[in-house]
Amino acid sequence: MAEGTEGGCACGALRYRLGSPPMFVHCCHCHDCQRQTGTAFVLNALIEADRVELLRGDPKPTRMPTDSGKPHDVFRCASCQTAVWSVYGGRTEVRFVRVGTLDDPSKMPPDVHIFVRSKLPWVQLPESTPAFDVYYDAKKLWPESSLEGRRALFG
Ligand SMILES: [Zn+2]
Ligand SMILES: [Zn+2]
Repeated sequence: MAEGTEGGCACGALRYRLGSPPMFVHCCHCHDCQRQTGTAFVLNALIEADRVELLRGDPKPTRMPTDSGKPHDVFRCASCQTAVWSVYGGRTEVRFVRVGTLDDPSKMPPDVHIFVRSKLPWVQLPESTPAFDVYYDAKKLWPESSLEGRRALFG
């Protein structure tokens, strides 16, 4: 994966650059993600917040309701409202960047499928990518370099 991967919103007012590869890429099939995106799943690249360079624009958070009661803030372009990333549980050190907003979304295929229990039946998952009914243990699945990054953030 090339460094300096760029992306942005639909209207072009918001542009960003990712300064390193993501720690991990989630494909989430939970019903919240389906509802909030209006489609079958969401693709989120988990990356350290300080690797996300805002080139232009002004992402504004929208607080989403959650079952857990923990905050989920979706950041959107102030002009066209495209959602570009999320912050979960107030953990501002990590961003969940919407892979579909990359200029080349094919660069970040999912490393894991989660909440497969609510996957739409016509979505076919490849055997080669781990898939879980609900969630998974990052310590077992993430590459060591990503776990190092995670420890640097959270200890
Ligand atoms: Zn926009
Ligand atoms: Zn989800």
